[in-house]
Amino acid sequence: MKALIAVLPGDGIGPEVVEQGTRLLKAVAERFSHSFELVEAPMGGAAIDLTGSPLPPETLALCQRADAVLLGAVGGPKWDPPAKVRPEQGLLALRKELGLFANLRPVTPVPSLYDTSTLKPEVLRGVDLLVVRELTGGIYFGEKRREEDRAFDACVYTVDEVVRVVRAAAVLARARRKRLTSVDKANVLETSRLWRSVTERIVSEEFPDIELKHMLVDACAMHLIKRPADFDVIVTENMFGDILTDEAAMLSGSIGMLPSASLGANRRGLYEPIHGSAPDIAGRGVANPYGTLLSVAMLLRHSLGLEQEARAVEAAVASSLDAGVLTADLSAPSTRPAGTREVGGSVIDRL
Ligand code: ATP
Ligand code: MG
Repeated sequence: MKALIAVLPGDGIGPEVVEQGTRLLKAVAERFSHSFELVEAPMGGAAIDLTGSPLPPETLALCQRADAVLLGAVGGPKWDPPAKVRPEQGLLALRKELGLFANLRPVTPVPSLYDTSTLKPEVLRGVDLLVVRELTGGIYFGEKRREEDRAFDACVYTVDEVVRVVRAAAVLARARRKRLTSVDKANVLETSRLWRSVTERIVSEEFPDIELKHMLVDACAMHLIKRPADFDVIVTENMFGDILTDEAAMLSGSIGMLPSASLGANRRGLYEPIHGSAPDIAGRGVANPYGTLLSVAMLLRHSLGLEQEARAVEAAVASSLDAGVLTADLSAPSTRPAGTREVGGSVIDRL
């Protein structure tokens, strides 16, 4: 197949990890006889330095034409406040312009990397969960007001916003173990009561084959640490998703391991590792690129419909991890850690 993929390296370790992602995409194209056109564009702090804007119009136009967008990370101390234009504004604008409303974060801890200092192996065994976080509504985007001695953040959800993200999550659950957990705080929040009733209706009308469970967010936070293997797909609103995805990320050991996808109404999606620009290790060739390589697998699956290729990438990553090709954040102090490019090469060799 032919596809146009926008590549936005961004800041800090972004360019280093994204380079492995583009090498991998080229290798997939070659092995599976596809034609991927990869076009790079500036984004974030790098774009501010070049053009004054964190999302230049040319970058946005490229992303709108593309079948998928691969992003590294944006931000860094150079553009922290008091700087007026911030790299993160570019990312928020890009998500909004592309209409991306569902953020997917799969968590599948690798046995050889279990962090047994924090969790017992029997708790981690069999964990294979996917958190779907609503990305456009809720308290982050409601009206905000500050008075002298009090402040307000309105939490607003419309029926349509709930419908579309629940539908997306149910479709994903259908392709997995068919279990959906909807997380809310319906005992105290009106938006959560709306969320719960809409979820109930959509699943019973359109997804009778899916087993739906409702869970309060506080109970879910506890359950994620106690019995994470019980979950298949979790769907939740924006702020709860923000918090729960960071918690779930800890199940897999290193923040460098985790991929993400942001999806909208059509197939075009934005794919990025969940970690930030890690300015403390940038430019040294030591960053862990596995999260980016797994994001490439998600891109192949969700935007290009290439399931077989996605699985091949995931299998190559698993084999590379099994062979002990580990960056410094994953390896024991006594062993020689692999560099960023070395990991990229190892995964490509195993494809
Ligand atoms: P943001 O605000 O963008 O989330 P942050 O500073 O909160 O950024 P990260 O940039 O993700 O978070 O960095 C957190 C820590 O994790 C840092 O010590 C960083 O070096 C480390 N880290 C992040 N990503 C990686 C990676 N891919 N490989 C190795 N270490 C990483
Ligand atoms: Mg952070």
